[in-house]
Amino acid sequence: MIQNFSKGKTLPLGAIKAQGFLKEQLERNKNGMGGHLPEIEPGMIANPFINKTYVKQWGEGDQSGWGAEISGNYYAGLIQLAFTLDDDELKTMAEIWVNGFIKNQREDGYLGTYYEPDALIHDDYNAWGTACGMRALLFYYEATGRDDVFDAVYRCMLWFTENWTGDKKTCYAGELIIEPMIACYHKTGDERLLQFAKDYTEYLVEHTTFFNSYKDFLDPKLHYNCNHTAAYGQAVRLPAILYTATGEEKYLRSSEIGIKKMQKKSVQLTGAPVSVTEYVGPTGAVQESEFCSFTFFNISYIFLNAITGKSIYSDYMEQLVYNAVQGAKKKDERAIAYLTAPNQIFATQNSSNTYHNMQVYSPCFPVSCCPVNSVAVVPEFIRGMAMSDAEDNLYICAYGPCSIKYKGWNIEEKTMYPFRNDIALKIISTGSGSLFCKIPQWAKKYTVLVNCKEVNAKKNANGYIRINGTGVIQLSFHADVEVISVNDSDCANKRPLAFRYGALLFSLKIEASWNKFYPNTETQLKPEWPWFNVEPVYPKVECTDAHERLGLRRDKFPWSVAVKENLSAKDVLVELCETDGYPWDEPFIKLHVNGYKAPLLNAPYAQRTFEPFGNKVEVTEQTELTLVPYGLTNLRITYFPRADV
Ligand SMILES: [Zn+2]
Repeated sequence: MIQNFSKGKTLPLGAIKAQGFLKEQLERNKNGMGGHLPEIEPGMIANPFINKTYVKQWGEGDQSGWGAEISGNYYAGLIQLAFTLDDDELKTMAEIWVNGFIKNQREDGYLGTYYEPDALIHDDYNAWGTACGMRALLFYYEATGRDDVFDAVYRCMLWFTENWTGDKKTCYAGELIIEPMIACYHKTGDERLLQFAKDYTEYLVEHTTFFNSYKDFLDPKLHYNCNHTAAYGQAVRLPAILYTATGEEKYLRSSEIGIKKMQKKSVQLTGAPVSVTEYVGPTGAVQESEFCSFTFFNISYIFLNAITGKSIYSDYMEQLVYNAVQGAKKKDERAIAYLTAPNQIFATQNSSNTYHNMQVYSPCFPVSCCPVNSVAVVPEFIRGMAMSDAEDNLYICAYGPCSIKYKGWNIEEKTMYPFRNDIALKIISTGSGSLFCKIPQWAKKYTVLVNCKEVNAKKNANGYIRINGTGVIQLSFHADVEVISVNDSDCANKRPLAFRYGALLFSLKIEASWNKFYPNTETQLKPEWPWFNVEPVYPKVECTDAHERLGLRRDKFPWSVAVKENLSAKDVLVELCETDGYPWDEPFIKLHVNGYKAPLLNAPYAQRTFEPFGNKVEVTEQTELTLVPYGLTNLRITYFPRADV
């Protein structure tokens, strides 16, 4: 057997199935973009792995690999959606694509989109786009066990080992090919694959200009603007993946430091990695994040969670998916924003601070990286909620309603986590190992009941408790409100305040008007798939003179508020709401806190969200602020300016 140095392994796709509100979200995804993107984007997505002959009109259409990225990432998401939702219609869609795709495999093993006689087969996007498609195929293999699908991937990996030899490699995103390469190595033991992954890793050390070699990640200093943030999110896990095959600690350390330094400087409290004009930047109230970076960092957290066995990475998964991800989705799953920020008064064609029309909500942009990745992120999170290890122990890493069936284990998890911090695990049957449950790092206290009897379970160094017994296990995590002084010192340095409770960050929700429009897209949009300018709603001004009316408007903005600098947790009231609706539509939990009106904070007809002027904000009377989870909002204030009181 080939040695695998990973501490844990994710369960095969399909072993964890969504229940409760997670299932509701996947159903909305199916009825929304998840089940319909091939209709909205027929050229790029419906047609398996098309190339530049078909997509000339798309941006730099001479890149044959662009269609591969989009199609590959969409189907990697769709396949996970199909099997975590256990949906036959989606499984059929997946099967048609998989069969159509592998039929294109060339005699010499090549599988991708660089088929034309003049194709530049050493393009970065050849390896990158193909790697995206290989991830999709490997998920399909994992869920169905179809050997012909695995063999297609394996043969394609051998093509790369033969044709991308020596210095015929690239530095931007192509190195993602290491991921399917090592996956095939673990199954076949074929040394050519491992050697290629090692060569590529060393090649990056010598050649990269994107600070994405394992040695760059080992350096504790994070360099802003060093790399495309989404590409950073993909590259950062590759050294750890190589570690699973070699056992060389330096590779594992490299990925761990690479994530740690991003968390420290460039990840918002929502879990969003900052991407200023798509590149790595510092955290701050109006600093934007690209949706596809959510998906790519989430994948890296799932890998690192399994490889290291450390539960901190599943805390990162929860933070990202239960906050940043939800706050960038329209709740019916029919539109997402390419770029979002903690403070956003507008989400329109004009509102982005950094990148033209990218705050607008839409089902599919001309640059469709983000829409396709938005389909994947929640199913991928669910796939990563539990893992196993060589002793067949089962670990519950991230919480949410689901069912788990794997090697004798049969567990139903009932919970409204993260809106409530109680979890009931019904253990229907156990496997041969032990059950381990994560204690989130924010939980300073917790209680564990096994069949209603309290047990003393001590947390181990990786953040898990071991639980013996069958029947019903009840976990309760004790959360305290956290009032956080946001570190935006590399940016505006306004030191705003934010409010967290358990895994959730809270925002002042700004009432929004969703105004449809139909831009000139390459494929004409159908009436049921509009784009939206999302604009704030505020009380009308009674004044007949048009200019005076504009000027007076400023006083009416409900989002012009500030809070006292020295607020503490005891100033914040937690309200658990009685509701049984969909928790991203209706709040299950609210926070109440006293703030101040700040009528001079915003100009009367600003079109985008600005940082406040000055150190502290001029305020007038007190006002009670009701905050809801960030994920329920699309327009919001999350980082509150400090009041001058
Ligand atoms: Zn993107």
